[in-house]
Amino acid sequence: MNKIKKFVYDNVVPVAGTLLKSKNKFINVIYYHDIVEGEGNGAQQTNIEAFKKQMEYIASNGYKTLTFDDIENGADISFKDKYVLITFDDGWLSNYSIFEFMKEKNIKYNIYLAVSEISNNPEYLTWDQVREMHNSGLVGFGAHTYSHISMKDIDEIDTQKEVEEANNIIFKEIGFYPVDFCYPYGYFSEKSNKFLLENTRYKRIYTSEHDFSYGVGDKIIFGRSSINGAEDFKTFVNKLNGKYNAFNTVRGK
Ligand SMILES: [Zn+2]
Repeated sequence: MNKIKKFVYDNVVPVAGTLLKSKNKFINVIYYHDIVEGEGNGAQQTNIEAFKKQMEYIASNGYKTLTFDDIENGADISFKDKYVLITFDDGWLSNYSIFEFMKEKNIKYNIYLAVSEISNNPEYLTWDQVREMHNSGLVGFGAHTYSHISMKDIDEIDTQKEVEEANNIIFKEIGFYPVDFCYPYGYFSEKSNKFLLENTRYKRIYTSEHDFSYGVGDKIIFGRSSINGAEDFKTFVNKLNGKYNAFNTVRGK
C-alpha cells in the first residue's frame, strides 16, 4: 500500500464509517484464519499473543459475541449493545487450541469449514473437535465449500456439488445443515451470490469485502473485516467498531 492509500485507509475510511454508522445498524463481522506461535503472515496467520490481546480487549470492553446458532435461533439483538461476530476461515487446528482460552473469557466464535480437510489433514480440525466445540454452545459452524474452490470460476453444476457435498457431510458429522457460508479466497460474483441465495439453504453469505453488507429478502450478504497481524492495535479497534464498514446498508431495529 502506498503512503496516500495508507493515509486514506487509516484515517479517512474510519471517519466516513463513523459518520455513516449512526444510521446503518448491522452486526460487525471480523475474520481470522490460523493462529500461530510465530510472527505470522498478514491476514492468513495471526500471532497468538496479539490474538489474545485482541480478545482481552473484546472481553473487557463490553462487546457481545454471538455464534451462528444464536443468530439462527433468533437472538434478541439490541443495537444499544456492541456486537461482534468473530469468524475463522478454513478450520485450522489452532482454532481448537484457542478453545480453552475463549471459554475462560466467555467469547463466542465461529468457524467455516473447508470440509474435505477436516479429519484428513493434520493441520486442520477433526470432527471430534468440531463436535466438542459445537456442543459447548461457544462455537458456531458454517460451510466453506467441500474442496475450498474459488466459486467465481465454476459453473452452477459444480457449485451445487460443492455446496451439497459440504452440507451433507456437516449434517452427517454434527447433525445440522449449515446456513452460514463463506466464499473461499473471498472470490465471488453477482452470479454466484444469486445462485447461492436462490438455490441453497444458506441464509448468510460472507465475503471478504470489508465495506459492505446488504440484505436480500430475508437473507444477508455480509461484508467482513480481515484482522491483519501487520496492522496496529488502533486499526483493530476501528475494525471492531465497524469504522471500516462505511457502506453497509443492513438496517437493524
Ligand atoms: Zn478459506
